Amino acid sequence: MREDELIIVLLGPPGAGKGTIAEQMVRAFAVEHFSTGSLLRNEVEKKTALGLKISQTLAAGGLVEDDVVNELIGSRVCRAAETDCARETSALLLDGYPRTVLQAKWLDVVVDGKVAVLCLDLSEEEVLRRLGKRRVCEICGKIYGQQASGNVCTCGGPLIRRKDDEEGTIRKRLEEYSRSTAPLIDYYEDRCVIIDGSGTSEKVAEIATECFVKWNIKERRR
Ligand code: AMP
Repeated sequence: MREDELIIVLLGPPGAGKGTIAEQMVRAFAVEHFSTGSLLRNEVEKKTALGLKISQTLAAGGLVEDDVVNELIGSRVCRAAETDCARETSALLLDGYPRTVLQAKWLDVVVDGKVAVLCLDLSEEEVLRRLGKRRVCEICGKIYGQQASGNVCTCGGPLIRRKDDEEGTIRKRLEEYSRSTAPLIDYYEDRCVIIDGSGTSEKVAEIATECFVKWNIKERRR
């Protein structure tokens, strides 16, 4: 990564709106977005050696081993520095990583502590309510918070419930979040801004935008 680049970590339980806020920030600011969940699901769909190894863990709502995810992120962080896109960006936005204190410590070493954190806070009841309704297009992957009319995506693809959004799996993911990921709020302490994730997406985006401006993240060129 480049000297002047910042890593922005999005923290928060599943369903808190990390993906939505990431999309909004990527449209407005010159940042590159990595979602470890999407990268890992992609490996599973493509049935790569890694995908076959981790598919059960993902389906059960557990966490993939730290070493595996660190390597994935490490290679993306280094590769990002070489792309045209990276030359245009002033931050990398990490969604779903780190998820354990060990991962956070590893990241601090790799990027020399240049990490700022946004945490979306949401109660367990609200997570269960939101994820119970969430559907994803089987063809293009677009996510719907409410059921779309006719249960069909704008691209024509069928909307389905993601395997890891089944109620039992959501509960497992929430337990994993409280046990392994919530301690990161203390780990990051003065580097972490907590946002009430139950607000409207406009309100959440407004607060996140203020943070990006304060952190001197460049606006995206139109
Ligand atoms: P997400 O879409 O971020 O909720 O991630 C989906 C799943 O991918 C998680 O439930 C984990 O099984 C796995 N995963 C994503 N990021 C990580 C990470 N940083 N460490 C370990 N497992 C991860």
